[in-house]
Amino acid sequence: SARPRTALNECVKVVVRCRPLSSREKNEGFDEGKKREKSRPEQKWYERLSAKSSDSKSGDAPLQVVKVWAERGAVQVHNPKGQDKLFTYDAAYDCTADTQTIYDEMVRPLVASVLDGFNGCVFAYGQTGTGKTHTMQGTPEHEGVVPRAFRHIWAHIENTASPDVTHLVSCSYVELYLEEVRDLLSKDSKKLTIRGQELNGFYIPEMTSVVCKSAAEMVRAMRAGNRNRAAGRTDMNEHSSRSHAVFLVTVETAHRDTNRIRVGKLNLVDLAGSERQRKTGAGGERLREAARINQALSSLGNVISALAENSPHVPYRDSKLTRILQDSLGGNSKTIMIANIGPACYNYDETITTLRYAHRAKAI
Ligand code: ADP
Ligand code: MG
Repeated sequence: SARPRTALNECVKVVVRCRPLSSREKNEGFDEGKKREKSRPEQKWYERLSAKSSDSKSGDAPLQVVKVWAERGAVQVHNPKGQDKLFTYDAAYDCTADTQTIYDEMVRPLVASVLDGFNGCVFAYGQTGTGKTHTMQGTPEHEGVVPRAFRHIWAHIENTASPDVTHLVSCSYVELYLEEVRDLLSKDSKKLTIRGQELNGFYIPEMTSVVCKSAAEMVRAMRAGNRNRAAGRTDMNEHSSRSHAVFLVTVETAHRDTNRIRVGKLNLVDLAGSERQRKTGAGGERLREAARINQALSSLGNVISALAENSPHVPYRDSKLTRILQDSLGGNSKTIMIANIGPACYNYDETITTLRYAHRAKAI
């Protein structure tokens, strides 16, 4: 469209991260460069997709369909049915990029503004298995964005604390599942109610808020919440692919000389898997569940694109997810969407869906 670039809301940043091939994918022969055999199962996928295509290059079709142009912030996806698709973002990271780089280039400025008293939201979007949790929480060897943010916050506090400046950091952790909000820092993951309205803001009066005195304490709070989240679940993978996890950090800075308190809030969100929920064998309950998951994600997409377009109406009210996140989306808040994708051809449809969702958020 002809919308001028200046109309774009610079507070919304969208980045794409493509994960490396998994070892299963490598075992199945998705490594480029390896000699291709006709009989491989993934080849059928191409044959099916390119059957209608006049140009029959299925024989040379790449098994990894994603190419990242990091210096241009672009992602190119090989389309077996026609022209390749190209999408441009604020940044694009290929499988060689580590979380440290993503943190330093994209997330660090957002956390810095939270420390200045603004609100911020970082969320990971994408199909299950593409690296949302890897990006957000990470592992002890590959620290995610979330523990890095904790250390960043405490490095700042240690550098600026003085008799005249004091800080209070508190954490909350909730999960959204089937439009139900659970308090992951309470006993038995207590069910919570969202109150308030769009005009004055939504809030959760009974949500647990834990004061933390170090990055390590924040990590412990997150782990305790994760244990609560997994408790009683037979399949945590399946559960996390259907629920959203929202970790909220509040940083209050009190200045004695001016008698003022600055408050910044940071929401760190690991979203439910964006894949179309399978309908086969799904009973009524499963279908309703799928509809709700998709509804929350599409309502988040609507909010982000309304913000990106500077639209006067932002539909926060449409889902619990966007109600919870309202005060860290829009206004003076900064938002980063990290869209996670996988490189292999059999993910083509979901990859395109994710890239479109992410692209819409830029409203170009
Ligand atoms: P999701 O949370 O989106 O379902 P995960 O974060 O659990 O996906 O990632 C799926 C698997 O892929 C995990 O084993 C994870 O360690 C691995 N993985 C994801 N992204 C990367 C990456 N950038 N580098 C290395 N391994 C990754
Ligand atoms: Mg996950």
